[in-house]
Amino acid sequence: MRKAFLKSARESLLKMREQVLADIENDTKNSREGQKDEGMDAYDLASEERDRDISMILSDRDRVKLQSIEEALQRINAGSYGICEECELDIAEDRLKALPFTRLCVICQADQEREARQTRRVDDERGVRRIAVGESEEDAS
Ligand SMILES: [Zn+2]
Repeated sequence: MRKAFLKSARESLLKMREQVLADIENDTKNSREGQKDEGMDAYDLASEERDRDISMILSDRDRVKLQSIEEALQRINAGSYGICEECELDIAEDRLKALPFTRLCVICQADQEREARQTRRVDDERGVRRIAVGESEEDAS
């Protein structure tokens, strides 16, 4: 991994984390203001409820995203950023630009998705292509 690339990856991860945290904070503010409109009693409760709100508003998706971002930042510090966890090859820079917190290269990611979908109908473009290639060439060899 190039140093310049790591630096820009780190910056975009920090920006993403800021964005997620800002979104959460906005949601919290909005819900607090909503409570204020209901009257003073609700307002008094607001500060107590705020802590609960944050954990409620922090949806699973946000939590997972924040965690992925944190882990990616840790990998940058540890020098393991951009290395696929499955095959230990470098992840393409284009992929890292699009998904800065990804832990898998595009091939391993596709493998994992295929495994996850094994019991389901695979009907996206990539799935169809992979299956077509696999089925038509297995008999040929
Ligand atoms: Zn891989």
